[in-house]
Amino acid sequence: MKLLSSGIKDIEEAAEALKAGKLAAFPTETVYGLGGDAFNPLALAKIFEVKQRPRFDPLIIHIASIEGLAPLVDFSQIDNTVREKLDALIDAFWPGPLTFVLPKKPEVPDLATSGLPTAAVRFPDHPVAQELIRLSTGAIAAPSANPFGYLSPTRAEHVASQLGDRVDYIIDGGPVRVGVESTVLDMSGVDVRMLRPGGLDRERIEACIGPVLLRTAAGHLPQSPGLLKSHYAPRTPLELYDHEDMMTLKNHPGEAYVFFDRQSSEYWLSKQPEHPAPLIYTLSPDGSLSAAAANLFSLLHTLDQSSLKAIHVERVPETGLGLAINDRLYKARAQAKSFEAE
Ligand code: AMP
Ligand code: MG
Repeated sequence: MKLLSSGIKDIEEAAEALKAGKLAAFPTETVYGLGGDAFNPLALAKIFEVKQRPRFDPLIIHIASIEGLAPLVDFSQIDNTVREKLDALIDAFWPGPLTFVLPKKPEVPDLATSGLPTAAVRFPDHPVAQELIRLSTGAIAAPSANPFGYLSPTRAEHVASQLGDRVDYIIDGGPVRVGVESTVLDMSGVDVRMLRPGGLDRERIEACIGPVLLRTAAGHLPQSPGLLKSHYAPRTPLELYDHEDMMTLKNHPGEAYVFFDRQSSEYWLSKQPEHPAPLIYTLSPDGSLSAAAANLFSLLHTLDQSSLKAIHVERVPETGLGLAINDRLYKARAQAKSFEAE
């Protein structure tokens, strides 16, 4: 693996590698992605292999301009009303943390879409990602740069420690801004459906196009692992609590307590005996959901490497980005449960 800077020469080197079918991890505003040429089935196969990602889990294809949609999407199959909404969302939120699932052109390899007739596409809001995509093939499939099911990487070091030599290049662009994956909207049918909450909140989407449906009726759509119960998980047992229940916890040595804000942590601390000193963390001292999202995976990475017996986490308010944060925490908890059962 070669660690690259985000300087132009290094981005050019990674772009050449992508054109040659190699993989490069790169920063986006949401999390670090593991990129490969979306039109090269060998590169796509390598992505699945490196991540140990099941083939039924389709990839998001990253583009660097709105024109980049044309080679991927069959616009003739999009419902007229949905098309108007798509245009409005693109105008309002691209580039940004919003992915569209749209009818695909036949040229898009089945491996990128897991054989589905639709492709997921996103225009990331990050200068390094955009430059890399533009200089390579214009369409880069990139799931998060972590082993399947594990915590998403929000820093280059997370990629290096998790994937190491299984990836050809890592571009270091520093810590990401958003910290949770993109919101996924299915716009391939007559209704707009949110398949995964993420970096763009539902309220802002609905202010733009009106109500969207949530997720999917059971059996309605193919398995969509963003919807799997366990994902985005640390190895350490993680438990999730409402504010009230969190406040009743007693401090145990070797266990970490993660609060939403300083108000919660200080109140809880005031109820603990002085010794032993608890391991306390806050996602956002001043209660900002965007700061909490940006800190989430990084904090969980650090705690997961601290040989703790357990991580106790307070749920965040369920508004705005809180929906995506609680979704990731819920999945982290379910996965931790499955590790315990092993
Ligand atoms: P990521 O692991 O961040 O690359 O997320 C990719 C997720 O996007 C998948 O796990 C699915 O939940 C969703 N997705 C991608 N492509 C499709 C598609 N064609 N249909 C439905 N969901 C999709
Ligand atoms: Mg992922």
